[in-house]
Amino acid sequence: MWSKSIFLLRSAFVSTLLLATTNPGKLREYREIFAELPLRLTTLEEQGIDLDVEETGATFVENALLKARAYSQASGLLTLADDSGLEIDALGGEPGVRSARWPTADTSYPERFRLIFQRLAGLSPEHRTARFRCVIALARPDGWQETVEGVVEGVITDGPRGENGFGYDPIFSVPALGSTTAELSPEEKHRISHRGRAARAARDVLLRLNAGSAHR
Ligand code: IMP
Repeated sequence: MWSKSIFLLRSAFVSTLLLATTNPGKLREYREIFAELPLRLTTLEEQGIDLDVEETGATFVENALLKARAYSQASGLLTLADDSGLEIDALGGEPGVRSARWPTADTSYPERFRLIFQRLAGLSPEHRTARFRCVIALARPDGWQETVEGVVEGVITDGPRGENGFGYDPIFSVPALGSTTAELSPEEKHRISHRGRAARAARDVLLRLNAGSAHR
């Protein structure tokens, strides 16, 4: 009886954060990093939101904001959305915002690796620099919005290595660790990854937001 009352009291004051992603790996990572926040976490699936927002922006920030704003309007909730990708310096920052559909949406990752190795052929490690970048946007239905960013620097290998992770992980090596991000355990990757860093920065914004609303 008491625990039910405490729960009801708590839920009356605790606000809800919508995690606007359908990627199970990202959902797990955000749940872990936001576990201690005084926020109730919910998903698009739980909210019954089946809305596809096209990533038409020219930058990670534009795309993350497009999604956060659209899902916040659709749900009426404080919403988090992200956009991320791989930037290879020798390719002028490609694949960048087009990472998921580079050169086309149907190209397999082994074929993408082959194209990248071909274009970087003969370049020494110092000319194979690259980074994973992740931008997280937070938006509220009243128009408040903020973005944070996380980056991990590395170099493109000359062959794929490792079985973990996803996407471009097998060809992205972190020199300080001497391994690709596909050779790291999920915990090791979260500690250094662009998404882990952006998520921890977002957690700080959410803590400030919560402290601000508690003082109003
Ligand atoms: P999105 O943020 O889910 O739109 O991711 C865009 C694309 O960037 C993914 O489909 C991958 O190709 C690439 N990408 C983003 N983060 C990672 C990562 O941590 N490892 C490998 N590839 C990534």
